[in-house]
Amino acid sequence: MVTMTRRIGVLDGDGIGPEIVPCATAVATAAAEAEGIEFDWVPLPLGRSAIDEFGTPVPEHTLTALDDLDCWILGPHDSAGYPARFAEQLTPGAVIRKRYGLYANIRPCRAWPGVPATAPDIDVVVARENSEGLYADRNMAVGSGEFMPTPDIALAVGVITRAASERIAHQACRLAATRSGRITIVHKANVLRLTTGLFRDACRDVAAQYPGLTVDDQHVDAMAALLVRRPGDFDVLVTENLFGDILSDLAGELAGSIGLAGSINSSDTKVMAQATHGAAPDIAGTRRANPVAIIASTAMALRWWGTRVTDAALVGCADRIERALGAALADGITTPDLGGSATTTEVGDAVTQRVAGHG
Ligand code: ATP
Ligand code: MG
Repeated sequence: MVTMTRRIGVLDGDGIGPEIVPCATAVATAAAEAEGIEFDWVPLPLGRSAIDEFGTPVPEHTLTALDDLDCWILGPHDSAGYPARFAEQLTPGAVIRKRYGLYANIRPCRAWPGVPATAPDIDVVVARENSEGLYADRNMAVGSGEFMPTPDIALAVGVITRAASERIAHQACRLAATRSGRITIVHKANVLRLTTGLFRDACRDVAAQYPGLTVDDQHVDAMAALLVRRPGDFDVLVTENLFGDILSDLAGELAGSIGLAGSINSSDTKVMAQATHGAAPDIAGTRRANPVAIIASTAMALRWWGTRVTDAALVGCADRIERALGAALADGITTPDLGGSATTTEVGDAVTQRVAGHG
């Protein structure tokens, strides 16, 4: 049998990144072995390590290498800790999101058996539009969306386009079709009539093309309240950038801890695994970092990629990783943020053993 090799980029990041990312590659390597495939990991410098070695956080050769890859893992970055001369630059993650038009940020939030959760029955996915809205550094249309006409007045420009709203709606609808088939469009069209009204209408038009789906919509403030009151009633939430940022933290916390929440950023052809948490410099080097979110993100990226290119082995890897992750958590193997006493590598090893089927 010829073993097909799939190439995946590995960008360790700063802070706890170099501690947690190797857990994800080790777990995925075991899953690949069980599926009879192989991953060719391509390490690429980005962030602090790239400043030290190449004098810039985002070396050109890292970007050229990413041009040729469909999938990569991005560790967290602590750009606040970079030398002052880089203060005006986009963060490494933002540079990559922009360059590859990673317009969809998909953040599933569900409670894990064995991990205490405020909302044990929550199982939602937030599909967040990742390129527009009020987030200036991400905004491709107007560059910096914030400005001050006088020292005492600050303005921000929010952009919503039909095209960008439609493409995130398609991703959300395709996702809902693989789940319970319910999609909720989140907006604030009673106040932000033109911008979030356009978002709502574009999403409705797209959802109408998917006959099996149940579609409704909510104002973002009501949505926040409903997520707390009746979390089990929702499935896929599709929303614009800022609302999605806030709602996914809320949903993640209701599901246990944002430290467990995996996420991917994708275009139509490329996918990046990225945990929702940051570089946690306060605990870097203490072996306390929780690797679950980056492992879960990696599984999501493999599933997304495998689905896009119809590669059952990649989807199989994602299934195996998610099952193993659930088993390790259910067995109580957790880092101190979840009340456990396992180290980062102990959690990673426990998941790897369960992937391989002998844990
Ligand atoms: P960013 O702006 O990059 O998102 P942040 O200000 O949200 O960063 P984080 O780096 O996410 O901050 O850290 C917030 C807190 O959560 C810190 O106390 C950190 O130690 C903790 N934390 C974050 N990620 C993890 C993790 N994987 N395991 C354990 N603790 C974590
Ligand atoms: Mg944060």
